[in-house]
Amino acid sequence: MSRETVTAGPPVASLGSAHDALLILDVDEVILEFIGPFRRLLAEYGAHLSPESFRLTGNVRSLSTGAALTGHELDGITAKLFEEQDQRQPLVAGVAEALARLSGAADIVFLTAMTPSFYPLRRGLLDRNGLHFPMIATERSKGAVVAELAERWAGPLVFADDLPPNLETVRRSAPDVHLLHLMADEAFRPHLPPLPAGAVSAADWPEAEAIIAGWLGCDGRG
Ligand SMILES: [Mg+2]
Repeated sequence: MSRETVTAGPPVASLGSAHDALLILDVDEVILEFIGPFRRLLAEYGAHLSPESFRLTGNVRSLSTGAALTGHELDGITAKLFEEQDQRQPLVAGVAEALARLSGAADIVFLTAMTPSFYPLRRGLLDRNGLHFPMIATERSKGAVVAELAERWAGPLVFADDLPPNLETVRRSAPDVHLLHLMADEAFRPHLPPLPAGAVSAADWPEAEAIIAGWLGCDGRG
């Protein structure tokens, strides 16, 4: 059965631009912590995350029985995390300071695959932390959205995400966009699949800021 993909947030055509450069930033694990809060929530369910591969399913187990939680159970826990995100998801260290500096040289758009119905909650959380940049929450391919954005900004453009498949869809749909891998939590890093050609990895926001500033042709701190 087909269903329509859902998007929340401003249409691409309505976004204002002050710069030629655009930073397109995923939210979970790039702007807001996700894995750390997810691990703390799992503890409340008597479960724990111990990654042996680059996926949640199969890597979350009951502390009492050792049984892996099902994908359906994990979806429910993820939904609870998003429902309570304003209490559970802190900013990734250094992101506010980095974006305050980078926004002097580039426009910024948040692009999240979070279920779009949680958009108002996430918008409020970001606004309370001073991150007033526009956000698009969508079930569409990130590559398709980035390709639309790339028609409106002369560039350079940068896309940052913690999930290599998202970097890959952007590489295919908008090949001129600089690709940055950034994942706040370290638990999955040993299991990271190969990054697409040309993608660069940053360990944290200070490193990410330096890489982005290089792509933008500025020092980011001026
Ligand atoms: Mg993410």
